[in-house]
Amino acid sequence: MPRTAVPTSGLKPSNQDPAELAKFGALAHRWWDPESEFKPLHDINPLRLEWIDARAPLFGKRVVDVGCGGGILSEALARKGADVTGIDLGEKPLGVAQLHLMESGVRVDYQLISAEELAAEQPGRFDVVTCMEMLEHVPDPASTIAACAALLKPGGHAFFSTLNRNPKSYAMAVLGAEYVLKLLPRGTHDYARFIKPSELGRMARAAGLQLQAVEGMSYNPLSRTYRLVPDAGVNYLVHCIRS
Ligand code: SAH
Repeated sequence: MPRTAVPTSGLKPSNQDPAELAKFGALAHRWWDPESEFKPLHDINPLRLEWIDARAPLFGKRVVDVGCGGGILSEALARKGADVTGIDLGEKPLGVAQLHLMESGVRVDYQLISAEELAAEQPGRFDVVTCMEMLEHVPDPASTIAACAALLKPGGHAFFSTLNRNPKSYAMAVLGAEYVLKLLPRGTHDYARFIKPSELGRMARAAGLQLQAVEGMSYNPLSRTYRLVPDAGVNYLVHCIRS
């Protein structure tokens, strides 16, 4: 398919929810504390990193991490030898990410810019786009997915993760994580914004992406560890390739 198949005009530059960004801003100083509200991101990081690296070997790749937050995944991608740009619309998380580079000694280019704006500026620049645990916090996930597609070279890889929308995901991700286990502050997740894999698949196809794989991530509250599972009922990962 020609590159023009993914339009960059018409992408919404204002696809952000200030209340969502404020939630992450308020907690940002604890981002790198593995026992903080960000524990789940620390816990899933090795799993998602290896999944990405197995499907799109990262060494030498130009990668953009959309909604990078404090940089847990961005740094790990850089450690695998990728040339990483991390973007987010939260100033505080980005500030934490930037500071943490001094501690870790890795190189990541952090920028306060939306996926839509970066896609308009640098279409087709990246080999790999990662957009993890972010789509469920934006008003128009289809616009974010279209921007991710537009950022990719033809044949480039897009990786998304988000939360499925069904009674089980409500029970686990909202009631379980926020009310019972108190892993996350109440109100972290808005159930109405959860996305079914079929919906994500439709948005991806509309953006010129071909679905390669969907895999569930299951949390064991006893061992407090995650593992990959075929059941995408709650947390799940998606791999797509740009046509
Ligand atoms: N992707 C990271 C962080 C997930 S937390 C990881 O998985 O480790 C969600 C992040 O999305 C926060 O940093 C928040 O600031 C960011 N975010 C929310 N809405 C956004 C938007 N519209 N554009 C860019 N980033 C956004």
